[in-house]
Parts: sequence; C-alpha cells; structure tokens
Amino acid sequence: MVRVKKLIYCFFSRENFLNAGFLLGTACFVLAGCADGTPVPEPVSIDSGDNTEAVGLIPAQITASRAIDADSEPENWLLHGRTYNEQRFSPLDKINNETVKDLGLAWFHKTVFDRGLEATPIVVDGVMYVTGAWSMVYAFNAKNGQLIWSYDPKVPGDWAAKGCCGVVNRGVAVWEGKVYLGSFDGRLIAMDAKSGAVIWETNTIDKQLPYTITGAPRIIDGKVLIGNGGAELGVRGYVSAYDSGNGNLLWRFYTVPGDPKVGFENETVARIATTWKGGEWWKYGGGGTVWDSMAYDPELNLLYIGVGNGSPWNQYIRSPGGGDNLFLSSIVAINPDDGSYVWHYQTTPGERWDYTATQHMILADLDIGGKTEKVLMQAPKNGFFYVLDRETGRLISAEPFVTVNWASHIDLESGRPIFDPNVSNYEHQGKLTYPAGYGGHNWHPMSYNPMTGLVYLPTQDIPMVYAQDPGFAERKMAIVAGVKLPEMTDDEAAGVSTLVKAELLAWNPVTQQKAWSVSRPAPWNGGVLSTAGNLVFQGTATGKFSAYSADKGEKLWEVDAGNGIVAPPITYSVDGEQFIAVMAGWGGAFALLGGPLAELSESKSQGRLLVFKLGGIEEFSVVQKQHNVVVAQPNNAQGDEIDRGKALYHDHCQFCHGNRVVGGGVVPDLRFMSEETQNRFTAIVLGGSLRARGMASFANKIDIAGAKAIHSYIAYRAGQKKFVVKLSEQSSLPEP
Ligand code: CA
Repeated sequence: MVRVKKLIYCFFSRENFLNAGFLLGTACFVLAGCADGTPVPEPVSIDSGDNTEAVGLIPAQITASRAIDADSEPENWLLHGRTYNEQRFSPLDKINNETVKDLGLAWFHKTVFDRGLEATPIVVDGVMYVTGAWSMVYAFNAKNGQLIWSYDPKVPGDWAAKGCCGVVNRGVAVWEGKVYLGSFDGRLIAMDAKSGAVIWETNTIDKQLPYTITGAPRIIDGKVLIGNGGAELGVRGYVSAYDSGNGNLLWRFYTVPGDPKVGFENETVARIATTWKGGEWWKYGGGGTVWDSMAYDPELNLLYIGVGNGSPWNQYIRSPGGGDNLFLSSIVAINPDDGSYVWHYQTTPGERWDYTATQHMILADLDIGGKTEKVLMQAPKNGFFYVLDRETGRLISAEPFVTVNWASHIDLESGRPIFDPNVSNYEHQGKLTYPAGYGGHNWHPMSYNPMTGLVYLPTQDIPMVYAQDPGFAERKMAIVAGVKLPEMTDDEAAGVSTLVKAELLAWNPVTQQKAWSVSRPAPWNGGVLSTAGNLVFQGTATGKFSAYSADKGEKLWEVDAGNGIVAPPITYSVDGEQFIAVMAGWGGAFALLGGPLAELSESKSQGRLLVFKLGGIEEFSVVQKQHNVVVAQPNNAQGDEIDRGKALYHDHCQFCHGNRVVGGGVVPDLRFMSEETQNRFTAIVLGGSLRARGMASFANKIDIAGAKAIHSYIAYRAGQKKFVVKLSEQSSLPEP
C-alpha cells in the first residue's frame, strides 16, 4: 500500500554557505536551549495488545554468557557494538556485493520527534529496541516494523538547555528481560522488555548541574554501566555501575579530581590530582565526561572507557600551571567488578581543544610484525589513529588519519604527542588549528572488518581558530569553553572554509595507512557497518545511504534517505532473511552549531528508522515540502545595537540556532521567524513560553535590552540573505 505523506519544513538558500562563520563559532558558548521545530505530541500509549507473539516466549533474554558469545548469533545484534569488542562487523552475507543492488525498503517508522537520531538498535530474537530524540524508546517486530510498545520518559523540555549537542540518545541496553535507558535528564531507567513498563529508575546525577545522558548503557555480568555528558557546560565526569536487578549503585569511577579541600575519594583520584596545577578547575567541573564509548574484554576482564575534554576547554584557565590533567582525553581500563583503576593512556595531555577520547573503541587481535597483538583501536578527535596493547595500555602505533597540526607526531617511546609550539600554544595569540573541536572523527562509530583487516570510519578536516576569551570570567558563562575566536570577515571565513573536507576512510591499522577513501560533500556523516558480504554501509549528512565494497571501496548501491544520517547502520536476520537498519535524523553538535556549512546537509524532513531487505521497495523518497514564506524582519537598528546583539547571540544562541544565525536544520532557523514569533520574541527568550519544546528561558542571563539587541542582529542577518523559495514537491512513501 502506498500513500502520500505530507511533511512541512522550511527551505533556505545554500548560497553563500562559504560565508562560513562556522569556523569562528565554537568559541564562547553559553547555555542555549534548543527549541524543537515540531509541536510536542501527545504521549504514545503503550500497546502490547496484538503484538505479543512477536516478542517470543522469553523476551530479551540476554545473559552474561550470551553477551560474551554474541558473535555466535549473527541473526541478532545483542550489544551496542554487536559484540563486546565493538567491531560492528556482521558475519551475515546474504546481502553482499553481488546482491546488494536489489536492496530496497522493507519497512520504516516515523519517530515522534524529528530531532537528531543517533541510536544503534538492539535486536534480540526478532524484536528491535531503539531510541529517538528526547530519550524515547521503541520496541518493534524486527521483521515487519509493527510497533510493540513505546516509552516516553518525559524529559523536562528545558533540560535541552543543559546539553551541548541536542536531545539525542544513542541507544538502550538489554539484559535478562529488561531494557535499560539513560534519559537525557540523567535517569537510568529499567523497563520490562515485553511491555515497556518501568520496573525501576534511579537518578545518576546532581540535578543542579548541567549533566545529561546521551550514551547507551552497557551491561557486564549484571552491572549496568552509564556515564554522562556536560563538559561544555561545566561538570565533573564519572562512570557508574548499577545493579541491573534493583538499580542500586555498585561503584563510581571519577575521571577528574574534585575540590582538594573536600578530600579525594580514593588513591587514584589523589594521584591524578597531582597532574592538575594551579587554578580552581573544580569550580568549572574539570570535565572528563564519559559520554559515549566503552568496550569490554571478557578474558582480561577489563572495561575500557573513553574520557572527554576539559571544563573549561581552556587549560590556561582550568590548570594554569599546566600538567597532563588526567584523565582528560584518555582511554582508561577499569576492573568492572569493583570499578578499580587498571591502566590509562592519555591521547592529548593537557587537553585544550575539546579533543575528547570518547570516540568509539574497537578491540581486535592483529598480526603486527609476526606477532598477534591484543589491541584496542581508537581514532579520537585529535586526528591520530591509535593502536594500543589492551592488556597494558602500551602504545603500539599512532599516525594521523586527517590533517593535524597541533602535534607533529606521537613519540613511540614515551607514548606522548610532540606538540608544535607554534600551534598548540594559544595563551597569547589565536592559532588556526587542525582538527577543530568537531574532531577529525567524532562519536560516529567505526567498523573493523576481520576479513579485510581494515577499519572504516567517517573523517573530517575542519580547522578552527582557538584563542583565549578575555571576557570569560566577567560574563560568568555557563558553557565554559573559555576560548574565543578572533573576529573574521565573511570573506576571510570563506577562504578558511574551502579547507573543509570529509571522507569515508578505509584504514589499515597494522600499516597505519589509508587503503581507500570516498570523498563526502559535507562533514558530520554517519557511523559505519561492515559485513562478511564484502560490504560497508554508511549514511551521509546529505541524506544518502550507501554501500561500498569493503575491499576496494567501489560504490555498489545508494538510496536517498531524505534526511541527513548520523547514526550507524546495523544488520540482523529474522527467519533467515537479512535486514539492514539505520536511523535517518540529522542532528548533533555540528548540525546545531555548524551554521553555514551545516546548511549543506539534508536536514529538512522527518526522522525515520529505515529498514532494508533484498527485494524491498526501491523508490520511497520523501515527501511534500512546504516552504516558509520569509517575513521581513524589523531592521532599523543601529550598528552598535547590532554589534551588541551579535555578541550576545554568539554567547547564548548559536549553540543551537547556528553560527551567524544560519540554522543547521535541526531547530528553527531564526532568520525565518514568522511575524507571530517575532512579536513574541521577548516572551520566548525571557518568558520561557516555548520551554516545553526545549527553548529555555534566558531571563537570568539576558535582560530586555539584550533580547532586543539579539532580535536586531537576527533581523540584520536575515536581511543579508536572498532566500530561495522552492515550490512544493510530492512523492510516495510505502506503508509497512
Ligand atoms: Ca566536548
């Protein structure tokens, strides 16, 4: 059955995207509420009525032994990275380099919210568990897409202002009949896998602080592991283990020291505190959040966590005496039984660029120099691809996989980067630096294919200018980068922006060299899946979903997903039929803040879970597009007023609404505000009238004159552009 679906979104010109203030943007951000463009729908009722047979006799019965042997169940995707080693490789091969040309849509599901979709689905015995924006959980019959139940944890709308990078969620964990969610407002929630009914929930954070959870929980031997985010806004990072049965806290591992006057929690914290020198980092939290990646080696019984950036970014404020500032930007190995420290490897000592090491980690056994090494691989934001001995943390090799200029190389003897002082020191002068805080590679998962021996990852070359923010202390900014970028004209920014590029990269981790790559038209592309069918799957910022041959990188199949893809695909099978699933929903840090460059993305349609199979429907693309009529905005402000508004906008608004008022397609582009919205501008910005949609009140940060100045700057920017308004288009969508 085919019927026409209608979608409404605004379209704006891509001209002048090279007027790219995005390079300048990430500097000094502040609390920013990311208002949702879609109305908040009514809660979805739990419906397990007619679909119970899809669930099977003992639903979601993932046990410790089954989790450890997850590789032996290619029909399922039991764990976040399919297996504890996080390879994101599937042995399924019915969809392969010969048959993939016949791939088409099997079923899809429109998510309740159209904001960023980043989740990895979990598939257990024919049932799929997946999350969407605002921490919504969905359970589907994985064969036909029937919704079994959904659950909305009712995250308060203005909690959006506590997040740097959108109200996203990267998935659930499943264990012994329960589904586990980390909600955006910091709760760990256990649900009945059969019905979605909440069994227990517990708060994992200090609700007074800007903590969030966007990462997927992991479960080892009945212990639910969860970290958090917030290092852009000023928190102290840690990871916690909870009892999967009752939600009791079992242990907590702090990644950075707290206030020395309060006393340190344990010897490890006391020891890392000696690497922080001068300053009062605890007032800003210190950072080091564990907001995404973990991996586990059952033989070594080691849990690996990826640790994030400093709060503030600026080490000259955070730790003015220097020091390594452990465990910022580190991979830390922990005994999961009691949360005790085993070893660490720090990728970026003294981190000051938002160079997190939270990026995806893959465990594999590699033949290096005639010897089998048990390795851990990571391509963190800082641009080097690391291969470590996962038993000891010893560095085996590290080479740049993108343009890097903050360090010349990594010294193999010491395991430390050799900084380029002309770039790495921005204490007195701003420095153009590769990579940007967006990272040479961000959270979007990689894949290791043991058949080709290659790691496949989305990469991006984006430079950024870092400089000290002299107004940091006075403004008491809540987002504590402490970094400010020098003023640049549009022309200057356009010149720098031509340096931006992005790739799907196939990397040989043994030789530390590129095997092949595919150029992408815009940064911030999706995670990667590889399969025994000699295939690599990836979605793009521009809304394509493609398959390449894993050995050579030849494009074999592509479909227009109608929406930018950031999530990683997975594959599974039901009754012997193989499926490929991916969430299509543009979002995340770059999508919100990226401004003119993010405008390249395909970001203006509905969020969907797309599931493909051989012989599925080939033509399914979107949808009716209805474009906003541009309403002239009041623009009688004087230069001083616009300048003041510009400064305030970039302090408070750009983090969600985009650098230089160019929206990335996730939340409303303010240049297109309706007359009604403009009339209610103060009520929204100060009165919080759109709080429920995620636009918090800024009354404690901006006064009425400030709000009016921001409005003037937005109007000024709106007047600088000529907008293209396209006619509506229509096409058909299949119904499941
Ligand atoms: Ca960060």
